[in-house]
Amino acid sequence: MTDIKSLDRDELKEYIISLDEKAFRASQVYDWIHKKLVSDFDEMTNIPKSLIEKLKNDATLNTSKLICEKISQKGDTKKYLFGLSDGNCIESVWMQYRHGNSVCISSQVGCRMGCKFCASTLGGLVRNLTPSEMLEQVYAITRLTGERVSNIVIMGSGEPFDNFETVIRFVRLISDDGGLNISKRNITISTCGIVPGIKKLADLNTGITLAISLHAYNDEKRKEIMPVANAYSIKEILDACRYYFDTTGRRVSFEYSLIAGVNDGEEDARGLVNILKNMSAHVNLIPVNPVKERNYTRSDIKNVLHFQQILEKNGLNATIRREMGKDIEAACGQLRRSYEQNLVDKGDTKG
Ligand code: SAH
Repeated sequence: MTDIKSLDRDELKEYIISLDEKAFRASQVYDWIHKKLVSDFDEMTNIPKSLIEKLKNDATLNTSKLICEKISQKGDTKKYLFGLSDGNCIESVWMQYRHGNSVCISSQVGCRMGCKFCASTLGGLVRNLTPSEMLEQVYAITRLTGERVSNIVIMGSGEPFDNFETVIRFVRLISDDGGLNISKRNITISTCGIVPGIKKLADLNTGITLAISLHAYNDEKRKEIMPVANAYSIKEILDACRYYFDTTGRRVSFEYSLIAGVNDGEEDARGLVNILKNMSAHVNLIPVNPVKERNYTRSDIKNVLHFQQILEKNGLNATIRREMGKDIEAACGQLRRSYEQNLVDKGDTKG
């Protein structure tokens, strides 16, 4: 079956011509898929029945199946578990902010990076997602909420630079003006620090925001919680970030998940200031979401505020991630894991 939603406009045109159809049908079909976000070929009402039949026989829209939707008490965060055509499932989160709606999407089923505090990695990497499976997370959520998405963060399960080409194609399609036309400035890719990926993205000069999951100020400490630190040192990562900034003019964000007694001390804050002070950086502090299988706990709020103060006093811009959706297992990989362990009622559609 042709994965029609993963095709760009030129490829779709070639495909439609290969079906013995006129080229102008391609732009109509593209519009149905990427702007009107149909979930079924039958919804394409200006397309002749004969072409619809050909598409049904030869192509798939890879429409995802909603397995479970959980809504936070305040109603500003919704977490979705979607079933893929091969039976795997992935999770995506919708967050409502004053400045618009943001969707956090997954780039892989599972993850092979092995970060100690993260639930996505507990079962290892299952497989990469396809461009259409990445798009469909945004499309399905738009259909379900009936609201426009203005920001996308590729911060769900998976390491985006471990699935580089797919992620870039996704960005191209989601920002295309014949589709949802989401500004590249409003798209963030978060990486655990795959240095060649950072450089490759810089060279593409897409205008995307880059976020680095740092979580420690020295390599020794970082290796304890992030195995990827054995492959790339903090120095190499920061050099790549400087290259990203110099090439694209985009300020890099750093994520720092605070784990009680592990990386949340004064020494850690000062160490962080030291390595970032000469960079145009923004630090996002995230009190760690405890994962059942790990014995990490979150820093208490006093510590988090103190940590932030040290950064700010020393000239580093630092925000504390607004806590959303803790009550709905919104941290990476948690909902999928619960589902696979049969802890989520499989008939459940509303949390
Ligand atoms: N692989 C990418 C993107 C996915 S994780 C990356 O590492 O950046 C998105 C962010 O959430 C990362 O900063 C990750 O370290 C963090 N994260 C994962 N599990 C978490 C948890 N239980 N609590 C707090 N942050 C977590």
